[in-house]
Amino acid sequence: MNVQALPMHRFIDHHGNPVDQLPAWAKPSTLKGFYCDMVLTRTYDNKAVALQRTGKLGTYPSHLGAEAIGIAIGRALQADDVFIPYYRDMPAMWARGIAMEKNLQYWGGDERGSDFSVTNNQKTANTTPHNSAILSPDHLPNDSHCRDLPFCVPIATQCTHAVGVASALKIEGSHKAALVTCGDGATSKGDFLESINCAGTWNIPLVFVVNNNQWAISVPRRLQCGADYLSEKAKGAGIPGLTVDGNDIVAMFDAIQISLDRARKGKGSTLIEAISYRLSDHTTADDASRYRSKDELHEAWGFEPISRLKTYLMRQGLWSEQDDKQWQEHCQEVVEQAVERYLNIPVQAPETAFDFLYESLNTELHQQRDELINKAMRMQGGKHG
Ligand SMILES: [Mg+2]
Repeated sequence: MNVQALPMHRFIDHHGNPVDQLPAWAKPSTLKGFYCDMVLTRTYDNKAVALQRTGKLGTYPSHLGAEAIGIAIGRALQADDVFIPYYRDMPAMWARGIAMEKNLQYWGGDERGSDFSVTNNQKTANTTPHNSAILSPDHLPNDSHCRDLPFCVPIATQCTHAVGVASALKIEGSHKAALVTCGDGATSKGDFLESINCAGTWNIPLVFVVNNNQWAISVPRRLQCGADYLSEKAKGAGIPGLTVDGNDIVAMFDAIQISLDRARKGKGSTLIEAISYRLSDHTTADDASRYRSKDELHEAWGFEPISRLKTYLMRQGLWSEQDDKQWQEHCQEVVEQAVERYLNIPVQAPETAFDFLYESLNTELHQQRDELINKAMRMQGGKHG
């Protein structure tokens, strides 16, 4: 079954044709910003995989094909909303003002990659053309303090954290919203189902966005759930469920914005299923050619999110091949600068693994920490001796 043929919320199809009148918010500068940010995130993605292959980064989960979902989320959230991300959500974090190298730190094994108190410093890099939110997150107030949670790698547990966060926002009476993301595989887990159930019962300001990229590592979507749409799970929880073309950033932003607005007004939770496709391996530790066909992957490339918006912008006279070339070169420069900053960050002392993991250490852990320090000192001495 071609999932792209199913009815869903969509404004621009995969040929770049508008299938509905675009929303009033979809100004040319906004659409160009969407496009530029998606191109920048793909440029980063290619570089991050290369860094992993050359031993400069640990296991890395590519977001190839998920650019529209991430950028739409990052753009739609307000500064004092709370984002609860899963591990494929780097584009959304960047559009929220988090520095690009933070992600490299995280996947490089440095816990400081989850310290979001230091926000974007790419803002000063060169120019900030085309309304890119990543390079110029002017939609965020300068004095914003980021309350977003770190990436969650365990599957679906972040949904339960999000219920707690959204409950706190409701108790505060602050009229803010929380947004949590997960993959299609997570929707088969109890944590997800319990979370949407709580969200419906407690009427909390929480938006769930499911990146349905058709694969849960090597398990295809058809073996995960018998329903046509994962958004149908919302019905049992008593909340609205929307099915959106996750490769159409206009539809994604529109659905997320409406759902967040609803949440902030005290009207409760929404489940958004973003239909997309994982164009990459699951992570750099995976080889998808062992379990999915070349034909399926080839067909999925025809629906990817970036080329359709480029086609649309060019037909509207809002973008040219020359603009594109210049922007691609600029993206390369921005990414190389972020990589340079990452590679120049002083390595963290190994004992900090203990310092960040536990609030306090018992006697045994103190001994282990001391042993680690002594071993590191001996290795250091050996290296210099
Ligand atoms: Mg998946």
